[in-house]
Amino acid sequence: MTRYEPGTYFSAGLVETDAEVASALASEWKRQRDGIELIASENHVSRATLDALASPIVNKTVEGYPGDRYYGGAEHADVIEQLAIGRACHLFGAAHANVQPHSGSQANLAVLLAFLKPGDTILSMDLSAGGHLSHGSKANLSGKWMNIVHYGVDAATGRIDMDQVADLAAAHRPKLIIAGGSAYPRTIDFEQFAAIATSIDATFLVDMAHFAGLVAAGVHPDPVPHADVVTTTTYKSLRGVRGGIVLTKHASLARTLDRAVFPGVQGSVMLNLVAAKAVCLAEAARPEFRVYAAQVLDNSRALASSLVEAGAVVVTGGTDTPIVLVDIRGRAFTGKDLQDQLDEVGLTVNKNGVPGDERGPRETSGIRLGSSAGTARGLGRDDFAQIGRWIADIIGVMSTDGDVDAVARRVETGVAELTAAYPMDGAVD
Ligand SMILES: *Cc1c(COP(=O)(O)O)cnc(C)c1O
Repeated sequence: MTRYEPGTYFSAGLVETDAEVASALASEWKRQRDGIELIASENHVSRATLDALASPIVNKTVEGYPGDRYYGGAEHADVIEQLAIGRACHLFGAAHANVQPHSGSQANLAVLLAFLKPGDTILSMDLSAGGHLSHGSKANLSGKWMNIVHYGVDAATGRIDMDQVADLAAAHRPKLIIAGGSAYPRTIDFEQFAAIATSIDATFLVDMAHFAGLVAAGVHPDPVPHADVVTTTTYKSLRGVRGGIVLTKHASLARTLDRAVFPGVQGSVMLNLVAAKAVCLAEAARPEFRVYAAQVLDNSRALASSLVEAGAVVVTGGTDTPIVLVDIRGRAFTGKDLQDQLDEVGLTVNKNGVPGDERGPRETSGIRLGSSAGTARGLGRDDFAQIGRWIADIIGVMSTDGDVDAVARRVETGVAELTAAYPMDGAVD
């Protein structure tokens, strides 16, 4: 039998050993660098975050929580997780934080496990009005195992109708009320939601996945004082690594929530993600991040205004978050067609349903835009206003018999100039 020797196992890099994966990764980096990322659920992480992600701590298995693990050798893992927990509590003014959820959906699933039994009722926002899969979609565990009642948005204003929320809460007496969505561009009245939840003894969850960065920077109303539990992702406006966090103002809920995450819905901790979350949470506490988040909001508003001025329809007419939802109902082309056309010119967006959409989720009558990623690389309000005019130009020419290719070539040139001006130097070796 040949004796195993590691040889170059520890020293040979990906480019040397796996050309196929290395090449796809290099192409993906070029795609991000040479296009403008307008998908609201994306961002560009810092070099420090990438460094934290690619460390040998990825080898370490731990279960449980700092000081209470099921495996030895956890002392450095404990330091890292404790840093992330402390930073999350400090940043959001929470009494307790769980930083282990592998994603936002996992964080929400843990909250369901902590407070509900199968068949219990949840009141949450309809997916078609901007809600999230993990808030009770029929295809998701939340919707299969729980009884879901949805509130929507007012057809005329695109905003949550708090009278409807109060009426549904009184009629159905849900055990859990969820506020927050994946395509809702406006602030939510957390105080009123909390009052409704209190009046029927329901638990109140705010899922701040999209606007967490704005909350951290103090440029958006803070849900933490009003909600029993707040969940978030760390990779949208918070500008960090992929993953989720659960926060609460109630120290008394710490153990219930921790046990719901582990052993409730997850096993061992992804420690490299936790390390990168700690990095992101420290970055978000710095003064520079306040400037960043205020710019994200200024940029999304500039984007919305320029679209409206150029004749496009923006749901609710504007935004209070990084999200801008463009409504193309009544046009002969779909959100998917528009997404494909924008992809061709280097503007990456996602097709998205809009309130009152008659098309299905694969086609849709809208696109969702976000300012978090473009802002991270340095784009300002004039750049976002320009992007809005480009998108409106493309919608305009697709709506007529005009020369789509001519407009597309002009926008493509503009995008190339813009991305060259904001290069993200040093992000990769
Ligand atoms: C993005 C998002 C999530 C998290 O999704 P994952 O893909 O599971 O990380 C959860 N809730 C809302 C409202 C979101 O927008």
